[in-house]
Amino acid sequence: MTPDAAERARSHPCYSEEGHRHFARMHVAVAPGCNIQCHYCNRKYDCANESRPGVASERLSPEEAIRKVLAVAARLPQLSVVGIAGPGDPLANPERTFATLEGVKRALPDLKLCVSTNGLALPESVDRLVALGVEHVTVTINMVDPEVGERIYPWIVMGGRRIEGREASRVLSERQLEGLERLAARGVLCKVNSVLIPGVNDAHIPEVSRRVRALGAFLHNVMPLVAAPEHGTHYGLTGQREPTRDELEAVQRACGGGAAVMRHCRRCRADAIGMLGEDRRDEYALARLPVNVPFEPTPGGIGGGAPDVDVGAAGGSLAGASDCAAGAAAGSLARRSYLGAVEKRRAQLAEARGAALAAAAPLPADVRERIAVATRGEGLVNEHFGHAAEFQVYDVGREGAKLVGVRQIPHYCLGGEGEERSLDAILDVLSDCAAVLVARIGRCPRERLAAAGIEAVDAHAFEPIEVAALGWLRARAERTGSCRQRVA
Ligand code: SF4
Ligand code: SF4
Repeated sequence: MTPDAAERARSHPCYSEEGHRHFARMHVAVAPGCNIQCHYCNRKYDCANESRPGVASERLSPEEAIRKVLAVAARLPQLSVVGIAGPGDPLANPERTFATLEGVKRALPDLKLCVSTNGLALPESVDRLVALGVEHVTVTINMVDPEVGERIYPWIVMGGRRIEGREASRVLSERQLEGLERLAARGVLCKVNSVLIPGVNDAHIPEVSRRVRALGAFLHNVMPLVAAPEHGTHYGLTGQREPTRDELEAVQRACGGGAAVMRHCRRCRADAIGMLGEDRRDEYALARLPVNVPFEPTPGGIGGGAPDVDVGAAGGSLAGASDCAAGAAAGSLARRSYLGAVEKRRAQLAEARGAALAAAAPLPADVRERIAVATRGEGLVNEHFGHAAEFQVYDVGREGAKLVGVRQIPHYCLGGEGEERSLDAILDVLSDCAAVLVARIGRCPRERLAAAGIEAVDAHAFEPIEVAALGWLRARAERTGSCRQRVA
């Protein structure tokens, strides 16, 4: 990785695992149409409580999208990226997509622009994306073999012509790979998403990984298929099963493991807003946005000067700023100052990590454990067990803590009461973990965890995750005596 690529990745929450602890993303759902059909997709279905790639509750015009971006940017200093990820394919809706990207770039040039595409229309879009300064593009590539592809894609539409069967996948694959190679050659950071479909492409994905890396992909994200009958997708209705947790991890390992495989994906909606793992889209619903944003797309670009948005007339929680130009300037200032604070924080975390690694260095190499961590962000063990909606799972050894994945769980604490059924599900999610590190935990779940052989640990509350994990591992090694002779 070049220093420039590393620098660009570190403030994008999806491209950098470390970055996702500090930075937020925002998807604007401006692209309704799609030029292909995937057997796992049904854009008509939307459950507001669900995090599933592609779904969106509100479809926005470019004007509405820019109003929304301005409102979010004025209030969320963590925001570093504005992306278009659906609900259809951004490049199958080029006018809406490029009008939105141009408008965001003009209004808030410090934000990164990001696009997620199926790749069919990518080759002819490369120049325009590069000219706009889009630095991050995700291409979903589920196969590089049309024989596999014909079990995923029934048809594509290109140049007004519908193509079906194996030929559809051949054309799609060719264009995906061509677009990826051309983007990477122009210095765009490309991430490839692959949906893991058991029995269809599970054995094939490592080959996809090798191929896309050879063409310049920066990161590979293997995501589990979501397929339930109620979603009304082909796979959901025909009983195609989703992969198990172990199957997903095995394919991720087969793709090479390490930093080049994304482990912190949350399978976000096409209208998600906030840090990964949180979704604040309800706070920024269209009905609550400031009104009166002059936004006049002209053929070939955005017309007019800098946006002059009157947020004074806004209702709901967004009222307060006297005008949007001032709001945008204040937001930009807040982002700069937040960036400065993040850099300081990073330096502190690196120092603490160095000390923790030095203290753990005498541990034998085979002292390793898998743990879960409850965190609200900032890289700290800072979430209450009962409030956690997910756990980050790490493998810990003397060389540090490596993220294995993020696992969603049902809330244990509902209305102040512990929910027994949720606890059963949580125990299942944690079944391969030796401990769960939390900010706090009640007596009842602590006892249930202990009975299942899982240690509940709140002694490292509010410590950085890796420092806490290594501290716990050392203490456990001391306590169990397994390496007392060898631990300093
Ligand atoms: Fe759905 Fe995206 Fe596939 Fe189009 S490319 S059918 S929007 S999942
Ligand atoms: Fe990032 Fe994954 Fe969410 Fe896409 S779905 S925005 S890659 S976390």
